[in-house]
Amino acid sequence: MHDLNCISMRGVSKSYRHAGKLNPVISQVDFQVGVGETCAIIGPSGAGKSTLLNIVGLLDVADAGEYLFMGRSVANARNDELAAIRKMQIGFVFQNFNLIPRLTVIENVALPLRYRGMDRAHSLEHAMCMLQRVGMAQRAGYKPADLSGGQKQRVAIARALVGEPSLILADEPTGSLDNQTASEILELLLSIQKEKNVTLLIVTHDQGIARLMQRQVVVRGGVVVELKA
Ligand code: ADP
Ligand code: MG
Repeated sequence: MHDLNCISMRGVSKSYRHAGKLNPVISQVDFQVGVGETCAIIGPSGAGKSTLLNIVGLLDVADAGEYLFMGRSVANARNDELAAIRKMQIGFVFQNFNLIPRLTVIENVALPLRYRGMDRAHSLEHAMCMLQRVGMAQRAGYKPADLSGGQKQRVAIARALVGEPSLILADEPTGSLDNQTASEILELLLSIQKEKNVTLLIVTHDQGIARLMQRQVVVRGGVVVELKA
């Protein structure tokens, strides 16, 4: 069904040094996610979920193993090459939204396009289209502080998707939201995901949300285990 893997890892390992001692966090992970697939990452706190997501998102580099992103080997890529791939192909959604407080809603959404060198007028036009898509066009001129949690996450979703990335990484995106708002946000994210055939990886503690994904994997003891449906 999936001709191309968005994510393809083999033997990926990562340790952190603490008090002079190497602590393995991720050990020999094999993990594939197809283009357009949705996958939940679950597992206990401290298991290495965020570490895995950061490696997948090219924010952190593995110590060992092979990682192909959209078919391209990134294990030995330079920092500027990793940054370029992130900028063009990966959208991030965080638990605490990570909107820039001094920028308006529309400026926040336009930012990824500005980073790519798009001029202000065009980036604002694209940002407005995304804000319409997430139901936030009326708040375009607001500052993030004047929005509710659910509204902030809608804006963050618009920002993550405005550049038409291949991959969306969401680290507990509903962790700061009430249940009702969480399910609205997830519905929104999944509807845009389907529309654009974006690959979606979501770290969550919420079983209900995990079940909405096509696949679920558990990170436990540094390895990734597939949960059979
Ligand atoms: P999770 O997201 O599943 O809660 P993390 O990936 O954040 O887990 O962390 C996994 C383990 O790696 C934890 O024991 C944590 O303390 C350790 N760790 C994560 N990041 C660092 C870091 N930058 N330096 C040292 N240890 C880290
Ligand atoms: Mg985490």
